[in-house]
Amino acid sequence: MKKKLTRREVLKVTGLAAAIGPIGATSGACEEARAPAAPSGAAARPSHGRYRATVPDTLDLAACAELAINGLAGTLDWEHVPEFYFRVTLAPPTMVHDALSFCACGPKYFESFPMMRAMTGSDLYADIERRYRDYMLGSIGDDGLFYAKIGPERPWDKTSPEDYANIYGQGRMIRAMLAHYYYDHDPEWMKRLAKMVNKLREVAVYKDDYLYYPTSPGYGDIFSYPKSGWKITELHRGPQETMADLPNHTMGIPTYLGGTLLPLVRYAEAARDEKSLDLAGKLTRFLLMPDSAWIPDGYAKGVTPAAHGQFRGHFHGHTMTLRGILAYGVATNDTGLKTFARDGYEFARTMGISRLGWFEEFTGKHSHETCGLGNMVALGIQLSEAGVGDYWDDVDGYVRNHLVEGQFIDLAKMKGLNPSLSAEQEKMLERSIGTFAGWGTPVALGTVMMNCCMANGSQALYYPWERTVTYSDGTARVNLLLNRASPWLDVDSYLPYEGKVVLHNKQAGRIHVRIPGWVDRQTVRCEVDGKPRPTLFAGNFLLLDTLRVNSTITLTFPMREETQKFVLDDYGHQGPQILKTYTYDITFRGSTAVKVVSSVEETKTYENRKPAAVPTYAVYQDRGQLRKTSTPMKSVERGVSDARILSW
Ligand SMILES: [Zn+2]
Repeated sequence: MKKKLTRREVLKVTGLAAAIGPIGATSGACEEARAPAAPSGAAARPSHGRYRATVPDTLDLAACAELAINGLAGTLDWEHVPEFYFRVTLAPPTMVHDALSFCACGPKYFESFPMMRAMTGSDLYADIERRYRDYMLGSIGDDGLFYAKIGPERPWDKTSPEDYANIYGQGRMIRAMLAHYYYDHDPEWMKRLAKMVNKLREVAVYKDDYLYYPTSPGYGDIFSYPKSGWKITELHRGPQETMADLPNHTMGIPTYLGGTLLPLVRYAEAARDEKSLDLAGKLTRFLLMPDSAWIPDGYAKGVTPAAHGQFRGHFHGHTMTLRGILAYGVATNDTGLKTFARDGYEFARTMGISRLGWFEEFTGKHSHETCGLGNMVALGIQLSEAGVGDYWDDVDGYVRNHLVEGQFIDLAKMKGLNPSLSAEQEKMLERSIGTFAGWGTPVALGTVMMNCCMANGSQALYYPWERTVTYSDGTARVNLLLNRASPWLDVDSYLPYEGKVVLHNKQAGRIHVRIPGWVDRQTVRCEVDGKPRPTLFAGNFLLLDTLRVNSTITLTFPMREETQKFVLDDYGHQGPQILKTYTYDITFRGSTAVKVVSSVEETKTYENRKPAAVPTYAVYQDRGQLRKTSTPMKSVERGVSDARILSW
């Protein structure tokens, strides 16, 4: 097997190593065996800035984020206006614009950049990001809305006779501008946001106690506001799939209107604006209507799907809607809405292999989408924090498995998909390092991408990174046993090689550590500065108190390995009957899949609606080495960050 590139090598081939200075030997593969063990650095670690340390060479989300910056900047257009290329193909390498994707998905990249900067401290491709930022701000009209402009500078979009503002695109721009606000605290962002939300309030269509936004008049993307004003204000309820998808509601309303709810709630929270929360409430009431997004009654006797967030069709769109409903439920402390979101999340968990983080793009389709997985990561974290469940084990599995496997990081493997490459094509592949799969099976990623997934995949790295360690009033919580340097404490994770986690305390008097569900609690051993401590649990958290600053806490427990069988039926793209059945035997070491075996060889996967269309990039191939029982160590420069980008 060809060796993966280290991060230094990736940056060397992309010609950018000099731009970011010394970076240490962090693995380009986010989880990769390296040098033999070296002693662990036990000296006091700084609470801010960067420092060198010897740490376990295990999953490092910050290293994945560094590669994601390469993917984000690399798939922007460097020659024309700096829009992202929606369609990137690895074999043969091509990057093409798509007429409609920018209006809804363009701002997703804008949200990702500050998240990746916060995780890494890297200024890689800062020049390209600046051009992109200027372009995005230049796309905001005098009325405050974000427009896809029609004209010669965007020759790929001839879908409309006039500029148009996609409603979901406004939502994603709200989230993006909030992300920048939380990153640099510049009050100009809030002024722009206030203007945009005011205009969204003005152009909404109000009925009874709810509101909606109409579909387009037949041009631009669906649910887009033409610059000259709405041409129709009735909600489309016809069967055309290209409009609102009603009555099958497979994608249109959940994605475009459901996806706008979360940003409105997040803005209302940031601005402490009751009027905006009221706007979000009216949209919530529309989305909760049975024919807005949910399965009609009758599919299972005694079950009312619309009361429990049960859906079919587009996974990403519906889970976006659930994120919005949960956010509104938390903002208003509405227990019914919080449990509705939980029910919907648990239903969504059944659509694929949740332990792996592989979820169907459309119900019954043998292809996943990274965007949907990103929503599941966010939902798992935020439901847990909302107190309506404990889904940290879910999140741990999503992140350790299909999230990081879904990122294209192996340049040699990408090159190997092509019999020959021109210099220009080779450069395209280098620019594609760090992107995320748009389609794929549990063992094989499709090599045609849709770059909504680049943005949402990178954000899904941010969510668990931020919430691995949280801190309040002298108490630190370690929610995930992932590597993380924070101002409050650092986590060194030896998983999945050894059941061992070392916490380097910096500020906390108390530390609560979530112990994964696969660990037998009777076997957990704890030492503080080398002295044994009794283990005391509250729920799933181990409680440690009366801790000294700079103390070192070592937790150990036996690893558990088990093999589980999963069966998936492929119904095609919204097809009526089973085309094929796939069986998988997956061996987990803790939450980490160390072996994934498919019943058949999967060398092709979906390209949009077409099955078996494109060659694949095999995944989970090199995980056997994760079954070793001694942990490889590495010396790295670690950045300490207390960033809280609350746009998600
Ligand atoms: Zn996507």
